[in-house]
Amino acid sequence: MPRHDSATGQAAAARSTSRTLSRLLRVAETHVGRGVFARQPLRTGLILAEVGGRILDDHPEDSSYVMELPSGRLLDPAAPLRFVNHSCDPNCELFYWEEDDRESQEDRLWLQTIRPIVAGEELSIDYAWPADAAIPCRCQTPNCRGWIVDPAELHLMPPGSQPDTEC
Ligand SMILES: [Zn+2]
Repeated sequence: MPRHDSATGQAAAARSTSRTLSRLLRVAETHVGRGVFARQPLRTGLILAEVGGRILDDHPEDSSYVMELPSGRLLDPAAPLRFVNHSCDPNCELFYWEEDDRESQEDRLWLQTIRPIVAGEELSIDYAWPADAAIPCRCQTPNCRGWIVDPAELHLMPPGSQPDTEC
């Protein structure tokens, strides 16, 4: 997961409120459940918001939304960012602010765009799950890996078991 130097604009990012977020984004149905869509064009490198939610010590039974925090603990994200779907060719990414002092490292995740997004486009991130948590991917991008899995662990997926899908 990318890290950003904390000195470069955390204060600006903190101004992203949920009110701003609802002006930028909306939640709507997709072919894989709910998703998050841009209401207006978004530029590359735009910090959308902190991903709020509940911090968990144990992996929940329904793990499909859980995100890993800098400490390795888990975040059960709150709506609307809970509904950002996976893509093998994503237009957003999660990151955290890296503190010089490890002791002061905050267990917080932020969402930013990594390429320009047009109004109405769905926002996506690469979940990059470990192989033992991977499920078939239906992101339908040309370079779909076939699984929602960390690219570094794709080789661990059983050969020939790639799901026969349209993607
Ligand atoms: Zn895919």
